[in-house]
Amino acid sequence: MRILLVEDESSLREPLAAYVRGMGHDVDEADSIEAAREAFFEAEPDLVILDVMLPEGVDAGFEFAAELREAGFENPVLFITARDTVEDRVKGLDLGGDDYLTKPFSLDELGARIRALLRRQGPVRSSVFERGPMRIDFAARKALWDGVEVPLSGREFALLELFALQPDRVYSAEELLERLFPGTDSGLKIVRVYVHRLRGKLGPEVVRTVPGGYRMGLEP
Ligand code: CA
Repeated sequence: MRILLVEDESSLREPLAAYVRGMGHDVDEADSIEAAREAFFEAEPDLVILDVMLPEGVDAGFEFAAELREAGFENPVLFITARDTVEDRVKGLDLGGDDYLTKPFSLDELGARIRALLRRQGPVRSSVFERGPMRIDFAARKALWDGVEVPLSGREFALLELFALQPDRVYSAEELLERLFPGTDSGLKIVRVYVHRLRGKLGPEVVRTVPGGYRMGLEP
């Protein structure tokens, strides 16, 4: 299998790469998102091992994972990071990660995770969310209403996906801005625009305005 390893600290990356090669895989190494993007387009990997804090920013790994998912990449992503808050884990998994390994970890543990991820590669992840008349197919990135597909842009789908992955969670407008439009300076207005668009396409109840922000409005 071909594995893309993204880690900026060479003292960590080099032994990891050697270990994974020892497992019999081809490893492309990258020390930045820029290098990772290049390697990715050269040969699509079967698995991406992704550090979170990279030269491009403290959340660069999360953002790159979201970018890969948006581009239709479906193979597993394993985050490796020193950060270990519940929020970080949830964020990583929300943004398209399949697993999360906290530094420091043993090489054997990494090996076990890699084997597990490569084994369950394929259409195994729970890929459908249903609520009321709405059905979301995460893998196909489609939303259906009463069985009819509702065309959504990539960003509209990403917004809907956030609510569907954690239907009881309230997202503040600031958080949605950061998740969906990282690095933008267009302000919170853009969040309201996208919420408005989703409501226009899927009905006013799909995203409910509540104290503190927004949440899924459709009841189970
Ligand atoms: Ca790092």
